[in-house]
Amino acid sequence: REQTMKNLLQSTTQLAQAIWEHYVTPQLASGAYVAVDATCGRGNDTVWLAERCARVYAFDIQPEAIAATRKALQAAGVCSIREISHAAGVGDASAAAPAVTLIEDSHANLGTYIREPIGLIVLNLGYLPGGDKDRTTTAASILTALQAAADRLAVGSLLSVTMYWGHEAGKAEREAVLSWAAKLDRGIYHCVHTDMLNQPNCPPEILFVTRKR
Ligand code: SAM
Repeated sequence: REQTMKNLLQSTTQLAQAIWEHYVTPQLASGAYVAVDATCGRGNDTVWLAERCARVYAFDIQPEAIAATRKALQAAGVCSIREISHAAGVGDASAAAPAVTLIEDSHANLGTYIREPIGLIVLNLGYLPGGDKDRTTTAASILTALQAAADRLAVGSLLSVTMYWGHEAGKAEREAVLSWAAKLDRGIYHCVHTDMLNQPNCPPEILFVTRKR
């Protein structure tokens, strides 16, 4: 346990996941609330969510990422998967309630697909590991997604943003995300921002937002 705790504070991923775990509620386990991965990439976070939550929506703009996430889910034994692509039309994403709905579209359109209360949403910013470094998340689309997510966040639920801001677009994105959070109504939301202060080279930071009422 001591070793786990030590690693927890040295790894942004482990720290984020430890907090996420705390917010996996019976409503998420039953599917009354949905979990969202706004940037599914290689599918690591989507698999983590699908192993704990009955219903998950996962977005990415790159077909390569959607395919990688489908493969990761199948490898983890998650077989109830539906795919929706923006090009093929929106449809009713909640109709048959599969375990995971993979959506090839921007998270900026999150509000078009998700009508249910959100119990946990994770946004892991940056570019696809091993993919095209020019196709990163951007401040504009993230801000739209954040506002749509905050509006749909159920009371007691969590929104988590991991910011990799070593690259140029990441710096503007980090500024935009933090200033958005700083302006949230403190009677409704509670915001926490983590930073590994003595690490060089823009170590990843996490923003956690919870809804109080
Ligand atoms: N969570 C992922 C994982 O576990 O592997 C890693 C995510 S990666 C850092 C960021 C992803 O965001 C990339 O796959 C990229 O294609 C995706 N992305 C960029 N802009 C997007 C947008 N507007 N909507 C949805 N996904 C986007």
